[in-house]
Amino acid sequence: MVYDLIIIGLGPAGIAAAVYAKRAGLNVLCLEKVMPGGYINYINSISNYIGIPTISGPDLAFNLFKQLKENEIEYKIEYVEKVNIKDEQKILTTNKGEYVAKNIIVATGKRPKRLNLENEAQLLGKGISTCALCDGNLFKDKDVAVIGGGDSAFSEAIYLSNICKSVYIINRSDKYRAIKELVDKVKGINNIKIINNAIVTSINATDDKLESITLNDIDRLSVDGMFTYIGSSPATEFMKDLDILDENGFMLVNDSYESKISGIYGVGDVIKKNIYQICTAINDGIVATMSIIDKR
Ligand code: NDP
Repeated sequence: MVYDLIIIGLGPAGIAAAVYAKRAGLNVLCLEKVMPGGYINYINSISNYIGIPTISGPDLAFNLFKQLKENEIEYKIEYVEKVNIKDEQKILTTNKGEYVAKNIIVATGKRPKRLNLENEAQLLGKGISTCALCDGNLFKDKDVAVIGGGDSAFSEAIYLSNICKSVYIINRSDKYRAIKELVDKVKGINNIKIINNAIVTSINATDDKLESITLNDIDRLSVDGMFTYIGSSPATEFMKDLDILDENGFMLVNDSYESKISGIYGVGDVIKKNIYQICTAINDGIVATMSIIDKR
């Protein structure tokens, strides 16, 4: 069977695309690697989603998933390993099978970056985490470090300050990428300390238990946990042979969100653009789908 459209990734962009496609009568299949909602499942509080003053990431993810189900959209939990093109058709190989579509929309988002230090991969889940919402409670009344100076680092530090004894924000410069509102809020919380101009140069552990981190090769900071929020990179490895990615792995698309390969679209955090927000990701998904509908 040949689908009109296969959507890869069920974050906000992918779900928006799916809802509009189904309602327009397209024969659509969605493929998701982990769980519907994507990255927002790991955000504790979202305050800039227009129309909903404040909502937790998992609640918003649940609402999006509910909308997918209400519209009876077909989806499978499978991950795409490769995309091949034969004539006009796109052939997707997943970990479980093969699917064919006239069009695909890639909405696979971004994955958290790592510091790439020795021990880091080994200690993931044993003191090191990229999700305060998931793992924060493991560090109740303990000391933790949050690495990064962006909105994620600052908002997750605020969340952790309600659980942990102390939270250190380790920022590699003396400037913050986080918005002023978050920076001011952090500065008003007693158990958060910001350490500027500091780079984590090593992670120190005994018997697979994190004990401390070393800053700038000199200072040891005793912590039980370390949360890394240093940005993310696009999840596009499965398309690396298609010549539609820039040097950092972001998909290059036009105003209709179509790549230079006809019928391959990219939306949300996976594409090269200026503004990465949930609302703009949803916009991308809708515009791409409308473009596919217009071509019918
Ligand atoms: P950002 O890319 O915005 O920030 C990454 C931070 O990590 C920067 O401070 C950067 O420092 C630092 N960093 C990068 N690499 C390293 C490294 N190797 N070692 C130490 N520090 C490093 O990512 P975020 O995840 O914070 O935000 C992503 C997007 O999500 C943004 O658009 C943000 O606005 C949005 N967001 C919005 C929220 C909201 O509720 N409004 C909540 C969370 C995210 P430097 O500045 O020096 O490069």
